[in-house]
This record gives sequence, structure tokens and C-alpha cells, in this order.
Amino acid sequence: MEKKTGGKVWLVGAGPWDAGLFTLKGKALLESADVVVYDKLVGQGIMAMIPHHVKKIPVGKTAGFHPVPQREINQILLDEALAGKRVVRLKGGDPFVFGRGGEELELLCQHRIPFEIVPGITSAVAVPAYNGIPVTHRDFCSSFHIITGHTKKSESAEIDYGALVKLDGTLVFLMGVTAMPKICKGLLDAGVDPDMPAAVLEQGTTAHQRRIIASVKTLPEKAEKAGIQTPAVIIVGRVCALEKEFHWAEDRPLGRLKIAVTRPRDRGSVLAEKLAFLGAEVVLMPAIQTVAIEDNQTLYEALDRVRDYKWIVFTSAAGVEAFYQAMTNRKKDIRSLAGLKFAVIGTGTKKAVEKRGIFTDLMPDVYSGAALGQALAKIAEPGDRILIPRSAIGTEDVIRPLREAGLLLDDIPVYDTLEAEDGPLWDESIDYAAFTSASTVRGFVKRNPDLDYSKVRAVCIGEQTAAAAREKGMRVTVSEKATIDSMVEAFLELAL
Ligand code: SAH
Repeated sequence: MEKKTGGKVWLVGAGPWDAGLFTLKGKALLESADVVVYDKLVGQGIMAMIPHHVKKIPVGKTAGFHPVPQREINQILLDEALAGKRVVRLKGGDPFVFGRGGEELELLCQHRIPFEIVPGITSAVAVPAYNGIPVTHRDFCSSFHIITGHTKKSESAEIDYGALVKLDGTLVFLMGVTAMPKICKGLLDAGVDPDMPAAVLEQGTTAHQRRIIASVKTLPEKAEKAGIQTPAVIIVGRVCALEKEFHWAEDRPLGRLKIAVTRPRDRGSVLAEKLAFLGAEVVLMPAIQTVAIEDNQTLYEALDRVRDYKWIVFTSAAGVEAFYQAMTNRKKDIRSLAGLKFAVIGTGTKKAVEKRGIFTDLMPDVYSGAALGQALAKIAEPGDRILIPRSAIGTEDVIRPLREAGLLLDDIPVYDTLEAEDGPLWDESIDYAAFTSASTVRGFVKRNPDLDYSKVRAVCIGEQTAAAAREKGMRVTVSEKATIDSMVEAFLELAL
């Protein structure tokens, strides 16, 4: 029986990289963990699911650093569990497929620490799949075998190639890049057909995955020429030839792009989802966070006499949320807004208002502050009072036309825009950064202060955002319209 209190360890497989291949159970565990002990080969998108407050302990090999010795990893898991923590041990692929999962459990068992295993999708199967290679096919083989090219005892494994060749199944080698010449020679010496199809699949399930298709005889040379590096899966068998017909991952419209989405964590999802649906590898890289102004007396007073207003104008979903939060704090529901009209800057804001049970009355054709101000100035009547609950750093764009039209404005800050506190930073494997406001550009720059920005290719939602990115020297593409769909269009064009 498990002890009711006290710590516990979950050994969780993260899959090969693509965050979409992570299990629901794994995600739920990350969200409720106290500590996550993780390896190098865990996908960025999965790391981004770990909440800010969770302690993260890296134990994998990273450039310049040696990996933490296995004994020490075992000890970390034990110590954290003994301290009463919920510990997630997060590993690439499946924890029991050459993942040393077994070794990590031994010490826990000795100390009667409760644990659970959450299997992951192994790279041995998923990486071939993402390259259009089914590990089995009834016309070609009736088994597949997963072999390590690297054992505990020696650099390259002592493999019984004769036995492997006799099996006549698909052979999948993990950790085999260095030993590739030895592996292929071993198979040839054991009598495998030299023309037997073989492949090496690098960085599978990422936007930059590469495959070399060859024969057992030619694979090492071709792989070396192409500069194939770890992590890569070697696969030997007639099924490799099916790739010609079944390749698919990089054929998706955005299948070769890795895109950083810089929107705030709680608002990034629509753009990120659309890009991922089109095949992009998306890195959620929130550059800013919006924080509702607490105990906002100015807003409370406006709410107390809200019927004095003719219009409420929202320029962002964050503004809508902060406004309704204040309504709740003030114990007012939407009935108090009866008779008011609502103007919104664009579809995202419109949706946020509709979610609260109110259909909007005005949205400009062009989604910009100036267009919204002009449209409203045209239909409002002189003397109408207008409430604008918005960002504390909002520009004059929306205000100017309204003021010029002689309308009475209450421009009330309801949230602050701060730079994000955590999340991944820019790295050169990323092809594009998507910016949906000038403040996301500024937040990005604050979080990545020493970058050579001329290396950052930015896709920006409108001219204002583009100007902020250009000012930093970024290479800028501007979406035609200031909408998420138009951003997606811009990426589709860039991918052509
Ligand atoms: N437990 C992991 C394997 C760990 S061994 C699993 O089930 O997938 C590490 C090896 O896995 C690497 O050397 C490489 O051969 C393979 N590998 C892991 N991720 C990979 C990826 N994204 N692309 C190609 N090979 C990968």
C-alpha cells in the first residue's frame, strides 16, 4: 500500500519531440508536479507545459556540460521523494526503451518510495512513422527489433549480427550514429543483402527532421557526407523503400518551419493551434504577460454609473477580461450593462465579449485602433459618453478621432503589460518569430537582450508591430491584415 502522505515519483515518457505526441496523463502530471527532473531529448513544447513555480532539474547532457551520473540522478529522485515531493522524472521517448528507467526504479524500490510509470511514444517507432516508414508491413516483414548501438560496457555494442540477419525483420538501431559503419559492416559480414534498403533519420518529429535513404552498403558514406548527427534512428529493412510513397511530415504546408509564438501564455493558443495544424513546430515563447490592475477604484466608479455611458470600447481580449473581473469584484452581472453598445477592435476581442453573453455593435473592417476610433466617431452622437477600459500603455490612435468628434471619453487603464518571467528563449534553430503587438516585440527584446536581432526573422501583425521589430534590426514580414488568419497566410507564403 502507498503511504498517504509523502513523496512519489512518476517515470514519464515524453515521446520523441513533437509536443502533440505527449500523453494526456504526462501533461496532467507536469501540471501538478513539485519537481521535474528532465533529460536533454525532451521536446521544447513539452518543457513549456511545466508551470513556472515547478522546480526544474536538468540531468541530461548539454553542450559543454557532462551529464549527471546515473547514480546521482537516482539519488536526486530519492531525496526529492523523501522530502515529500511529487517528482516527475521526464525522459525522451519511452522510459523503458533504452531509457534506464529500470535503473532509476531500483533505489526507489529499496526505500519503498511509491512510483508510477507513464509510457511514452518511443522514437524507435515514431521517428520512422514521421518519415513515412512503417516499421512493419505484411508484404515485407513479420517482426521488428529495437537494438542499441551503444551499451553500458563499451562504446559500440557487442551485437550478434548473425542472429539479427536470420530474424529477417525490420531492425531499428537507437544511439547508433557513431557506430553506424560498424553496424552496417556487421550486417554485411553476417550475409545481409548489400542492397537491403536502410535509412538514417535525424531529429525525427521536428520541423528540421532529415532522412538519408540508402542501402546497407551505402548508408555510412551517405550519412557522413550529409553530416548526420545524433539524435538519429537507423532503420534497416525493406520497409525503408516505402518512404518514397508515404513521406508526409515535411509536405504539410508549414511542415518545415519552426515558429516561436510570442503572445501571452493564455492568449497564444489560437495562432499556435492554427500553425501546428498546418504542420509547423510551434514553440510557445510568451514575451509579455498582462496583469489586471487590482482594486481599480477608477474602474469601480465607472461601473457604479455605467448607464451614463452610451458605448463601451474594447481594444483587446485582456481588456475584456480585466473589465469583467472588476464587474465580478463589484458584484455586478451583465444585466447592469443593459442598453449599452459595444465596439471592438477585431475578431479576438469580439469573441471575448461574446463569450460573456453580449453581441457587439461595431467592429471596423481594418483591425486597428485608428480605424476603430474613426468608425465609432462616425456613428456616435456628439455628447455621447464612451468608456474605454484598456491597457495602461495604450496609444492615442483610438482616442484621437473620438476626441476630435467631441465625444466624452473615459479612458481607463485596466491592465498592465509586463515582460514574461519565464519560458523558452530564442535559439537559432527557430525559423520565425510571430509578433502580434509592438509590446510582444519589446518583451521579446527584454527577454533576449544580447541577440543579434538581424538574425531574427519576424512576422508581424501590422505596421505598428512591424515598426517596433524593424527598429531592432529584425528582418520583417508584415501580414496583409491585422488578423490571426492573415498572419497564418503570411507564414504559408513564406513557406512556399
Ligand atoms: N527512450 C528513448 C530512447 C533513448 S536512447 C525512446 O524510447 O525513444 C536515445 C536515442 O533515441 C538517440 O540516440 C536516438 O537514436 C533516438 N532518438 C530519440 N529521439 C529522437 C529523435 N527525435 N529523432 C531521432 N532519433 C531519436
